[in-house]
Amino acid sequence: MLTLTYEYKLIPDRQQIEVIEHTLSEGPSVWNYALRERKDWLASRKSPVNACSLKQEYIISPDAPYPNYHNQAKSLTKAKKINEVLKSVNAQVLQQVLRTLDRAFADMQSKKLGFPRFKNKYRMRSYAYPQMLKNCVKGNQIKLPQLGWVKFRKSREIPDGFELKQARIVRRASGYFVMLSLQLDISIPDVPFHGHPLGIDLGLDKFLATSDGELVDRPRFLNQLQRKRKLLQRRLRNKKKGSNNRQKLNQKIARLHQRISDTRKDWHFKLAHHLCDQAQSIFIEDINFISWAKGMFGKHTLDASFGQFVTLLNWVAWKRDVFVAKVDKNYTSQICPNCGFYAGKKLLSEREHNCPECGYKTHRDVAAAQIIRNRGVEEYALLA
Ligand SMILES: [Zn+2]
Repeated sequence: MLTLTYEYKLIPDRQQIEVIEHTLSEGPSVWNYALRERKDWLASRKSPVNACSLKQEYIISPDAPYPNYHNQAKSLTKAKKINEVLKSVNAQVLQQVLRTLDRAFADMQSKKLGFPRFKNKYRMRSYAYPQMLKNCVKGNQIKLPQLGWVKFRKSREIPDGFELKQARIVRRASGYFVMLSLQLDISIPDVPFHGHPLGIDLGLDKFLATSDGELVDRPRFLNQLQRKRKLLQRRLRNKKKGSNNRQKLNQKIARLHQRISDTRKDWHFKLAHHLCDQAQSIFIEDINFISWAKGMFGKHTLDASFGQFVTLLNWVAWKRDVFVAKVDKNYTSQICPNCGFYAGKKLLSEREHNCPECGYKTHRDVAAAQIIRNRGVEEYALLA
């Protein structure tokens, strides 16, 4: 299963904006009501049976079931029948709010996160339509529940073969956007291992290195855009909160942000195609990108966009009959790809692989990519 998220700017008319704003403002009230219900239930269970709590507590009958998602969704359906305001909002959108709350409670227990918080109407910036109809996109219009056909700026084509699973409406300084979750129902290694194999090492210094010796730098135009964004963000500090100028600057930043992410995605696509031009089988290290990015460079990650790149690579490769597989990443930089000699850790400053055993010399990232290729071939050539 492959999931991509595409974002488009919506061009809603005045009436549609009203519906979006109305939905955004009703979300928090459902969230807050449901959160209150859960908190009260939990608090009422903490009070001892034979004494009163020192704080004020609601007394909730011991028979009352815990307001879990299922129960809350049922009460919501009932409430929608009598409450005019709730009635006017799409049912699935509101159920989605309850589902998000449910997940927040589950996360709190499993990941030891804090208690979910109450939201004011500004904190809700988006909501989701969890189910989309087939053929809901025609040309530059998308059909959304309750909104009808909404125009959008089609900055890129929706890739064919993908099914539209969910649409999320987002309100930003720069306007309204729709984020489409697109899903392709495939198990990725559809194509067997064949042809010329290529190993890929992803890095910080270079974006990637291939086992054929190519080094791909991070695109410089992205750095320029990033720098520009940082500059604008710094300027934001001097602007008074709530002022007109600040809002204008915010919009400018949001637009730039969008441009950066579009440009980057485009570049990823091109790079994926470039790699598929050269090989019939591609091997890539098996990295948990999120924890990697956090651990290695904390917040000032240049762009922890490897995850997106790998997803796109998988998709492009699948379209072009190129085999892609992940291989074990351990010690890739410590072994000689030519003779298998274990040379130990390299310092970050050592840019060369220079084998003391066989004399093999190459760029360190290329050496790592070659190890990755060799592992992939060992693992998959036998299966093919
Ligand atoms: Zn060697």
